[in-house]
Amino acid sequence: MSFGNVAIIGLGLLGGSIGLAVRQHLPGVATTGYDSDPAVRARAAERGLAERVCDSAAEAVAGADLVVLCVPVGAMEQAGEAIAGALTPGAVISDVGSSKQSVSQALAAALPGRCVIPAHPVAGTEHSGPDAGFATLFHHRWCIVTPPEGADPAKVAALVQFWEALGATVDTMDAEHHDLVLAVTSHIPHLIAYTIVGTASDLEEVTRGEVIKYSAGGFRDFTRIAASDPTMWRDVFLHNRTAVLEMLDRFLTDLALMREAIRAGDGATMFDLFSRTREVRRSIVALGQDVAEPDFGREDHGD
Ligand code: NAP
Repeated sequence: MSFGNVAIIGLGLLGGSIGLAVRQHLPGVATTGYDSDPAVRARAAERGLAERVCDSAAEAVAGADLVVLCVPVGAMEQAGEAIAGALTPGAVISDVGSSKQSVSQALAAALPGRCVIPAHPVAGTEHSGPDAGFATLFHHRWCIVTPPEGADPAKVAALVQFWEALGATVDTMDAEHHDLVLAVTSHIPHLIAYTIVGTASDLEEVTRGEVIKYSAGGFRDFTRIAASDPTMWRDVFLHNRTAVLEMLDRFLTDLALMREAIRAGDGATMFDLFSRTREVRRSIVALGQDVAEPDFGREDHGD
């Protein structure tokens, strides 16, 4: 099976990018869209993020064989409830939420008896809203699909095929494992970025503008991540609490070891860690997940 009518609920960065990507890569597939914010709906219609932007979620999903919920993780249950009575029998309901266990539970509660197959495209930027989306967001990025036990294999295969058509490479795993992996690769790094930028900003008075002036010394790269959408990230930490706390404990243990190495003047421990982490960076570049140019390819190195 493949999908012919795709409804997108939430027309910000992820929803808008899906709409544009479908129009580019799957031209025979019809798209409808809905966002709770009327200003977003108007802008989405102007940008053509979906062929038809509707005034209600129920109207958008009527006739759709795939519905993708692209709202913050904390809004998934409400978005599911809003479409429950209007879905076509046999429709697949998926999402793009950054945490998977809580979303799976929320959608199972909101859509009993429906075919819910959660997913998470590991692709994004620090921008949000209807102007942030672009058709190539998913090119050469991973999309993790987390089918619940007993999910119809033909429908899982159709969802995998959908994401592959948008340019992603798909992996499947269970929701619990997803949450643990993403806690360490995405959620903790965001928490560190938010915290270090917050600390530096609190010190700004002391350093009289030097935090901004000398930001190219590493701080600037944290500020990009720390500019990510506050609603989305608040929801991620509220909804992936267990895995984040587990990985945070592990990180704090490692940080304490580095603190001790610095205090003790233990250069060997530092050199060993910094050598291992350099290899991690090189393998990310080798896998095509980033560019090898110095300073992330910025032309102006700011120094
Ligand atoms: P976004 O740009 O802020 O877009 C989300 C849109 O959904 C907003 O316009 C929001 O309106 C709307 N919305 C909220 N509740 C709704 C509801 N019940 N019904 C219809 N629309 C609703 O956010 P995003 O970055 O696309 O993130 C969307 C989802 O993708 C999140 O679950 C996030 O975890 C996941 N994700 C994000 C990234 C990333 O890098 N940004 C990457 C992968 C996955 P209001 O602003 O008025 O609430």
